[in-house]
Amino acid sequence: MARIFLVEDDPQVGELVKRFLEKEGLLVVWARTGREALKQAWEGTKPDLVVLDRGLPDMEGLEVLRSLRDLDPLLPVLLTGRAEEDSRVEGLLEGADDYLGKPFSLKELLARIKALLRRGGKEGRRYFGPLELDLEARKAYLDGQPLKLSATEANLLFVLAQTPGRVYTREELLARVWGPEFEGSERVVDAYIRLLRKKLKDDPQAPRFIETVVGMGYRFLGE
Ligand code: CA
Repeated sequence: MARIFLVEDDPQVGELVKRFLEKEGLLVVWARTGREALKQAWEGTKPDLVVLDRGLPDMEGLEVLRSLRDLDPLLPVLLTGRAEEDSRVEGLLEGADDYLGKPFSLKELLARIKALLRRGGKEGRRYFGPLELDLEARKAYLDGQPLKLSATEANLLFVLAQTPGRVYTREELLARVWGPEFEGSERVVDAYIRLLRKKLKDDPQAPRFIETVVGMGYRFLGE
């Protein structure tokens, strides 16, 4: 169940939104002031999305937004407030993921929330069968278990998985993962692919993830 952190000082709006979202199966934590919001954001369980009112009694909403961003640069934030275009642009420039002008319909709010949650899921994490890649944290999980990857192994995996289906030559992988200054042999790529396959429990004869393309290089198998 997605956790929504609602920051709204208007008791009527807050009550209405909270009840509606809960009826739609979302978990809602409601903070009524900027200070309360920041306190809860630091202490509570991490939310999946924040619905943040710009006009708060004690703090400017954008200030709360900036603090939330410091806490987690990827947390999806839907800013609500005055409907004027300037307000929207300003909010987006400050790092909100979306802006909803007031008054809004509850259905519109729900649609925006769902879109952001989908986007967050899609951009932040990618799933390839039993393999899950957390693109921001640069972590990989196989069957839900975190993989212990060295920095080089992780870089190699994330470069390959960035564009599934695309063939990368050893030369390209050397340049991308080891850097253009690296002067070692291209065989180092093969060695690291072997290490990676072992950790991914990937059989080169029947690969699930990394395929050898004879005479060319390697390719990550697509979704
Ligand atoms: Ca307000």
